[in-house]
Amino acid sequence: MSLDQSQRRAAVWLTAVLLLTPTARAFAQEQGGVSLVRDTEIEEILHQDGDPIFVAAGLDPRSVQIHLVGDKELNAFSAGGLQLFINTGLILEAKTPNELIGVMAHETGHIAGGHIARSGAAGHAALGPLLIGLGLGVLAAIAGSPDGAAGLIYSSGYFAEISVLGYSREQESRADQAAVTYLERAGESGRGLVDFFNNFRYQEVFDDEKKFPFFRDHPLTDDRIEALTVRVNQQPHLGMTDTPEAIAKHAIMRAKLEAFLYGPGQTLSDYPLSDQSFPGRYARAIAYYKETETARAITTIDSLIADQPGNPYLWELKGQVLFEAGRTKEAEPAHRRSVELKPDAPLLLINLGQTLVAEGDPKRLSEAVVVLKHALAAEQDNPLGWRLLSEAYDSQGEAGQARLAAAEQNFYLGQLADARVFAVRARELLKKDSPEWRRANDIILASQPTAKQLKEIGDVG
Ligand SMILES: [Zn+2]
Repeated sequence: MSLDQSQRRAAVWLTAVLLLTPTARAFAQEQGGVSLVRDTEIEEILHQDGDPIFVAAGLDPRSVQIHLVGDKELNAFSAGGLQLFINTGLILEAKTPNELIGVMAHETGHIAGGHIARSGAAGHAALGPLLIGLGLGVLAAIAGSPDGAAGLIYSSGYFAEISVLGYSREQESRADQAAVTYLERAGESGRGLVDFFNNFRYQEVFDDEKKFPFFRDHPLTDDRIEALTVRVNQQPHLGMTDTPEAIAKHAIMRAKLEAFLYGPGQTLSDYPLSDQSFPGRYARAIAYYKETETARAITTIDSLIADQPGNPYLWELKGQVLFEAGRTKEAEPAHRRSVELKPDAPLLLINLGQTLVAEGDPKRLSEAVVVLKHALAAEQDNPLGWRLLSEAYDSQGEAGQARLAAAEQNFYLGQLADARVFAVRARELLKKDSPEWRRANDIILASQPTAKQLKEIGDVG
């Protein structure tokens, strides 16, 4: 992909469209289904929910990666390393934080119990480059134009593969028991997990293809629910209930996911104007944005900001709405405010960087480079960050640096042949033996070139 093409594709984001348009769906199917979605606020809430459980399981919460899978199907699964995957559908179906935390505790039971390794699925060394997610807002903005996503999404049939890895009944039962142990240690009730299973017990009579994926590999037999219930009923913390703060965050997460992932019609009917709650207004603001009713979206976001002026995610949303409406100059201070309020969040930095690149004047381009490098230092494998950095360098006339950043973008997408092409070009343009020149060589070597290709490039390493 040339940089010119990438710039044209970037322009496509300016049109806000629905996520689940037929085109986007076709694209997703072509790519083998679902992709990861990113959202700093939701990731933060999921960690607040999950971290006490991870600690109770003896895991370092900073090393547990929670991935949000953009899929309406109810599912959660774990994979090699400390990777916990949660479908957006699960969050929307979990009625309380305690139910969601219960399911997370069950999956943590599989992780801490090393069940993946035993079922032989640990050999997914290629997992790294595939775990690329896109911000909810970016997804919404590019959804109608599959072309716009081409340089950013590497979704694959991979999730379909790992999400259906069955565990043995014994492993399921051990994960249930471990879940209650962790919940108790974390001061949480196991009631939510029991309730969650009971809510979906009706699915047991369905054929497998009609069941939610989660219940294909988690059969809800009477024995299983009975064993779990007996254990939960003995818990000293059985009567613990969700805090008002946890309930409020759960409601925000659900409102935001529904509004970003479903059509605005459904959102506006689930959150009618009569609902003046914080999550209700939050959901409507996103629905208005998706309907390109920018003025209404901004008025609604401003009402939320009046309630919570120190909430970085409201400023993030405001910046995004303005940016997608082409009001770049107004988007800048909003994104700047979100970064001031939460200085090291890569996705917030990338939003600001994107706006500065779009404004295009030299002073802002220099700042964009600093801001994007800051984001990429915290999150090296973010392809959107690298793509924007490449554009910033290109606008500055730094052709070598621009090609190197494009090589990084492709490298982290797992597109090794393209990464090599850009790295070879970067190497020709960069100063010999500079750190950047060496990085270009590293990418060439890491791109699995044939002996013949290496010979043609010459003098690498
Ligand atoms: Zn399980």
